[in-house]
Order: sequence, then C-alpha cells, then structure tokens
Amino acid sequence: MDDYALVLNAGSSSLKFCVFQRPMAEGWRLEARGQIEGIGTSPRLSVKDGNGEILTKQDLDAGVRDGRDAVDALGTWLRSKYGGSRVLGVGHRVVHGGSRFKGPTILDRQVLAELNELVPLAPLHQPYNLAAIEAVFERLPGVPQVACFDTSFHRGQSAVAELIPLPLELRQAGLQRYGFHGLSYEYIASVLPQVAPEIANGRVIVAHLGSGASLCALKDGKSVDSTLGFTALDGLCMGTRPGAIDPGVVLHLFQGLNMSAKEVETLLYKKSGLLGISGISNDMRDLLGRSEPEARLAVDYFVYRAAKEIGALTAALGGLDGLVFTAGIGENSAEIRQRICNASAWLGIGVDEAANSNGEAKISTSLSTVSAWVIPTNEELMIARHTGSLLGLAKAA
Ligand code: ADP
Repeated sequence: MDDYALVLNAGSSSLKFCVFQRPMAEGWRLEARGQIEGIGTSPRLSVKDGNGEILTKQDLDAGVRDGRDAVDALGTWLRSKYGGSRVLGVGHRVVHGGSRFKGPTILDRQVLAELNELVPLAPLHQPYNLAAIEAVFERLPGVPQVACFDTSFHRGQSAVAELIPLPLELRQAGLQRYGFHGLSYEYIASVLPQVAPEIANGRVIVAHLGSGASLCALKDGKSVDSTLGFTALDGLCMGTRPGAIDPGVVLHLFQGLNMSAKEVETLLYKKSGLLGISGISNDMRDLLGRSEPEARLAVDYFVYRAAKEIGALTAALGGLDGLVFTAGIGENSAEIRQRICNASAWLGIGVDEAANSNGEAKISTSLSTVSAWVIPTNEELMIARHTGSLLGLAKAA
C-alpha cells in the first residue's frame, strides 16, 4: 500500500480510526475503518476494509487500559498490516475548539495547551481526544497532526444565535452556544451541490440522528443555528441525554434532591434520554422492536422533540426548502424518518413511502414543497480532507 493518513476519534472507552490512502485524483480512498472498544475492561480490535469486509477481529491484551495504550495497540496493528508505508499525517476529531479555533488547526504543544483549557467545557470527550494527540506526539514525533473540531463549522453564526443570555462576565468566560456535530454538517453541506442541488443554496435543516442527536440550520451551506449549544446536552432527545430541559430541574436536583455534581452529570449524560424514558435501552433499533408502553413513549418523545425543533429552526431560517436525515437513526430508520416528516407535514413535507423504505436519496413526493433527503454522513472523510489540505498532502500525490 501507498503512504497513508490516519484519522482518529478517541473516546472514553473506544478509539475509532480510519486509514486513508494518499489522495488520488478522485480524492481520498478509504483503506480501513476500525475501532478498539472496551478500553480498560475487555479491549478488542475490529477492522473492516474500504468495502466493509472484515480484516480482523481480535481480543487485545488486558493491559490496554487507557487511550495511550490503545494508540500503541493500534500502532502495532498498523505496522503489521502496512509496515512498508509511511504515516503522512494524523487527523483528530476534537470535540471542542472554543471560540478561538474557527477551523482545522495544525497541532503543536502551544495549541494542545490551549485545547486543554477547554476540558471543563467538554469533560467527557475533550480529555480523551487530547490524550490521543499526546500519545501520537510521543510515539510518532515527526508526524504532523491536525485537530478538526466539532464546533468550528458553527462559528459563522450570528451574535444572537450564539448568545446565552447571562451577564457579560460569564459570557466573557466562554458561556455561549457553540454547537456540535460540525464535521457531519460540514460533510453534508459539501455534498449537497451534487446530491441535492435544488436545495444546496437554500434553507436546509440537517437532522443528525445518532446516539447523539442534533439539528443544524443551513443557509447557503453555512450553519446559522443548531440545537446543541454550550454542551452536547441541549436540544433533541438522545440515547442517554435528555436534550433541552428546564434549567430549574437541574437546580431542583441539587437543592431539592441533594444530588452531587457528579451524580447530576452522570444522570444527564448517561441515564436520561431514550434510556431514561424507556428504562429499557438507549438504542433506537431495540426500542422500535418493543411493545412496552415505556419504549413507545421514548420513541414518541424522540419524534415529538425532533419535529418541534424543526419548527423552531424553520423560524430561525425564515422558511424551509429541504430536510436532510443522516447518522445511524437518520440513515437507517425509515419509520423514524416517516414519523418526523408526518409531524412536519404542515411545513409542506410529503413523504414518498416507497422511496423512503427503499432508502433512496430523495424521499419526498414531487408535490412536496419542502423536499426530504437521506444522505449518509462521513465525518472521517471530512477530517481526512482537512488534514490533507492543511498539510499539503494532496499536492504531493
Ligand atoms: P454514534 O456514532 O453517535 O454512536 P450512530 O450514528 O451510529 O451513533 O447511531 C446509533 C443509533 O442508530 C442507535 O440508536 C441505533 O439503534 C440507531 N440505528 C442504527 N440502525 C438502525 C435501524 N436500522 N433502525 C433504527 N435505528 C437504527
């Protein structure tokens, strides 16, 4: 194999990665996609090639206890598989770029120190993202690294869209709406001109519906608003996060129920949303197959909340031309798409049931005044593109 770029998405218990071939005339080519899961418990590595065929599935040494160990284990596998090839650069998904990092950034010690200051804004993601960067600095000191942020794509939003209406001194300390899932939205915006040219320059809502879920309002391909704000807790109902709730509830958890900050954090990030409502599962596929009233309520709320927020973002956009579904639920569940579109019929969305259940790109009828689409996201490719263009890799091809 030729030299390659590595894309890393490091989480608390998993390290996801992609290997992309040096850019060809037709763009980056995916060579392998995999993950190390169960870090710190029962670590295992699974990798598929660019066509989705399994390359390897193996249990790893129980000594893979943290992100650094995982990077080492990945390095061992990469050397065994692509020993003769060079790593041209490493692109990282980094959840928070704050207000300072408005685009992908080449990493050095100074940048890493500044990203470290943002850890309190994303305590469940940022430390793991940064630990992977640190591990690559140590293990591959000559290899350039690029940070690609989930927040950057939203940084052109208006002052009112970014505002959290609290006193100035708090806002100056970083309290603003940042928005997340930006790499996913940026990818969708980048392919709209080819896939859905009739709406690419219009008013579009993209629904990224996965374990984490949010909506982004795009005008002419730029983010003007989004349902996630200061943290990844706001907006839509998610697998284990509640989405928007009255902040008075949080006060009550502290003052009325004497919960600790750690308990509240765990409740809001890990025990709420679909899991909290159903008491059964955080997984939409599981819930759709169940008949218990709690499972139905969870799905009903997910749909209700999505439709309600679509209405709100339509107001922010001053009207709507298209609705795009993406991510695990958005790409795979015809039922959820149908239900959200039905609840948004008042906007002029009409679903072509056959197109929707066949998973076609355009799922709205020709009479629909607002078109609806399914477009698979590809955050890793977006990271590879940014890494390639910042490091000048494409030119070297
Ligand atoms: P993340 O990358 O945030 O972990 P994904 O984008 O992979 O999440 O989405 C995971 C969600 O997608 C889960 O709730 C899963 O049940 C759901 N999902 C995947 N396939 C289907 C399907 N065929 N029908 C319904 N939900 C699905």
